[in-house]
Amino acid sequence: MKTIGIIGGMSYESSIHYYERINKGVNEIAGGLTCAKLLIYNVNFEEIRKLMLDNDWDEIGKRLASIAKTLESVGADYIVIATNTMHKLANFIQSKINIPLIHIADCVADKCREKNILNVLLLGTKYTMVEDFLTNRLQENGLNVITPQKEEVINEIDRIIFDELCKGEIKESSKKYYINVIKEMIKENKIEGIILGCTEIEMLIKQDDIDIPVFDTTQSHIDAIIEYSLERKLL
Ligand code: GLU
Repeated sequence: MKTIGIIGGMSYESSIHYYERINKGVNEIAGGLTCAKLLIYNVNFEEIRKLMLDNDWDEIGKRLASIAKTLESVGADYIVIATNTMHKLANFIQSKINIPLIHIADCVADKCREKNILNVLLLGTKYTMVEDFLTNRLQENGLNVITPQKEEVINEIDRIIFDELCKGEIKESSKKYYINVIKEMIKENKIEGIILGCTEIEMLIKQDDIDIPVFDTTQSHIDAIIEYSLERKLL
């Protein structure tokens, strides 16, 4: 069994899902009292969020790379970043460590391709939707990616993530908002699947809410992490 190194806390609401579901998944496969060998370095998201709002990505990069190195030094065999947005720094973090970083976009793209779905709508934080770090990686995996373009829509999707979901608040009005955006985007574009490209959106939107396939980055990441942990997939 391999030891997982998780950079978590962004937010802790979604890191809980990583901890719980990785252990559960590993146990379901291996049986007995088996659970995952894992290390979580939980950041104080309040500090990181302030740096995000100050646009100080160099400092965030330094801190997350240092955490990845710490996890490596205490025995992690691979690193996962339990948030999509911080994959903005994935290449930088990978360059500072000698163990692999399992990229969240590769994991969700595998799930889309398994279902032969190539045209996807990506929802996430403003960074994830407006910048190209996740979109590019999904495209490298063969997907065509569409993101919302209207500024007010991007801002509201982002606001709901940080003001509500990251604090564990699930509001019916926000769920309706997301569903309406998705429906509008499906009407206007060739979209075959929806990627929930933020590790908290799955708390709000479920497959039953949407008529076309939904691909959750959190669960896709977790599924791959379990496979690497049990060495059913090799690093
Ligand atoms: N967990 C979120 C994501 O998957 C947002 C929090 C963050 O900015 O890291 O993008």
